Amino acid sequence: MRFDVITLFPELFAPFLQNGINRRAFESGQVAVHLWNPRDFAEGNYRRVDDRPFGGGPGMVMMAEPLWRCLQAVREARGGTEAARAPVVLFSPIGDKLDHVGVANWSDSQGAVLVCGRYEGIDQRFIDACVDLQVSLGDFVLSGGEIAAMALLDAVARLQPGVLNDEGSHQQDSFNPALDGLLDSPHFTRPEVWQGPTGPQSVPEVLLGGHHERIARHRREQSLLLTARQRPDVLARSREQGLLEPADEAFLRSQGLL
Ligand code: SAH
Repeated sequence: MRFDVITLFPELFAPFLQNGINRRAFESGQVAVHLWNPRDFAEGNYRRVDDRPFGGGPGMVMMAEPLWRCLQAVREARGGTEAARAPVVLFSPIGDKLDHVGVANWSDSQGAVLVCGRYEGIDQRFIDACVDLQVSLGDFVLSGGEIAAMALLDAVARLQPGVLNDEGSHQQDSFNPALDGLLDSPHFTRPEVWQGPTGPQSVPEVLLGGHHERIARHRREQSLLLTARQRPDVLARSREQGLLEPADEAFLRSQGLL
């Protein structure tokens, strides 16, 4: 899969692509990431990529022409036919919020062209002519789309086969509809008793016993409790989708949560 990222700050991506568990996905080309700077496609000595907004107001707006030229170069480099053209995604607070389903779809895709805005945003005419969909990280405003692009690439890369050391590892992650869609249960590691600032804290007994079924049941119940408390909307969705077993329903009922 191939992602082409259009950004005025390509250098922000280097440490992200070269560190951490996802590095092997990026380096092997399993998730190939190509960076493009619209400034390289801008005209004049100053290679201007932004200008003041028509109608007045604060800030600057990214100009359509350098973005369009950059996008044409991306399309040429992808060598794609019209039919196989990769979707153009713009990161924007007005977009559809990114979630597990969105990430899972991208991780099964051929990739996309990711456009990172800066300043007040991008000339609307480029958006109307060239952008297929807009994606948001949430209801807040970033100063650029780069962190949103990295968030999407990170989440997609870790779902690729062989990227995580333990294949089962994302199976138990939160929101996985292949499992139960619930939030992940709490994690513990050594020591068994931690002398923390509130006094000695022990690991739940059942996790030390090596009884796999009991451990699985305990974790599932913790997931159910956590999801019911933290994200009733997520619990309701899992129930609607039939992802819960009768034992789960019985447990929730016994806790007064249904
Ligand atoms: N004036 C715009 C914000 C511009 S912020 C508005 O109020 O809607 C500059 C750039 O940061 C945007 O073009 C977009 O690419 C990126 N950005 C800001 N917030 C974002 C968010 N929540 N999700 C994804 N991208 C975001």
